[in-house]
Amino acid sequence: MRLDPNDITLCVAGDAKNPDGPSPTSPPIHQTSLFTYPTFGDLVRALGDEYGNNVYSRGRNPTVQALENKLALLERGESCSCFGSGMGAISAILYGTLTKGDHVLFLNQVYGPTLQLAQHLERFGIEHDVLLDLSVEAVDAAIRPNTKLLWLESPGTMLFRMIDLEAIADLARSRGVITCIDNSWATPLLQKPLEYGIDIVVHSATKYLAGHSDVVAGAVVSTHEHMERLFYRSYLLGGAPLAPIDAWLLLRGLRTLPARLREHEAAGLRTADILRQHQAVETVFHPAFTGGPVAERYLKGYSGLLSFTLKRPSYEAVAAVIDGLQHFHPGVSWGGVESLAISPMRPGPWPEPHPLQLPAGLIRLSVGLEGANTLAEDLVQALDGLAE
Ligand code: PLP
Repeated sequence: MRLDPNDITLCVAGDAKNPDGPSPTSPPIHQTSLFTYPTFGDLVRALGDEYGNNVYSRGRNPTVQALENKLALLERGESCSCFGSGMGAISAILYGTLTKGDHVLFLNQVYGPTLQLAQHLERFGIEHDVLLDLSVEAVDAAIRPNTKLLWLESPGTMLFRMIDLEAIADLARSRGVITCIDNSWATPLLQKPLEYGIDIVVHSATKYLAGHSDVVAGAVVSTHEHMERLFYRSYLLGGAPLAPIDAWLLLRGLRTLPARLREHEAAGLRTADILRQHQAVETVFHPAFTGGPVAERYLKGYSGLLSFTLKRPSYEAVAAVIDGLQHFHPGVSWGGVESLAISPMRPGPWPEPHPLQLPAGLIRLSVGLEGANTLAEDLVQALDGLAE
């Protein structure tokens, strides 16, 4: 893992120290819904710029802003807004960017509810397509005259396929299309899409950024121009801000992010190795093995979310493996300290062809911090049980 030393200090360091006296190591929680001003005139002036002033915590709040400042710096963006969930952040981008008659192109296996939201937006005259061919030529051909937004997820959901960010950003810019990437898998520590010309980055901060499965949160980072537009169009009016206490939990989560990611990477790679050697396993999906030169170029390391398929890809076999695990628990979400397993398999026939080209027998693992050896032994015993 090649982490930027400045990123590490930014994550770990508390606030600036008070040179004249003691300093708290942990920031205050501004648990307030509103801010009063000395005079009515002062309030009127602040109301003229709610993007820049603390007026009401559905807009700005200092604890949330401390987190937003760190995330903007980590992503190398100008400004950040934090939301009450990743979907809150995703909704704000779609509502704040698109109007009737616009088209969105989703590139790669994209998080399911993001696509469900796009489906919902069709009622408002907003069209979309999903493109699974990640080549520049295919994207060029799929951009329509009314394409306003190109939505990327890289590494993508479930199979972790990777997009050549700079090539796609260049193409989109030349066609007048705004680009947005869901960067939740990599976190700003492992991939910095804005440096390659992507316009907007979104995170489910629920995952590695928070890291302890105790907060649901989202974040958007971009230029002041994009963020101010989103702030007035969909942040203030969408009403899904992050609560100050949750921002504080996230600031605490960030402090251990570099250390956690190192361990997630090591345990994830060990897990992938074990799986690749097991006779019950067909394919392992992990950017280190399936990402090729694109992964090498864009990723400074790997997180701990990966997947694999079984050679016998039935629902029953998938359930037997997941239920045979002692240290990976069946559960949604990912990126926390505890290991989780989930599968898109359901009883009954697997849809062929699958709309997102997901293979039958797929199991996704969120590799936690219980220890690489413990987790590797656990997987081997669960897969051995299948062979019996
Ligand atoms: N993006 C990705 C890749 C996700 O996996 C998720 C949640 O699982 C989200 C966005 C949505 O985030 P949240 O659950 O915080 O709303």
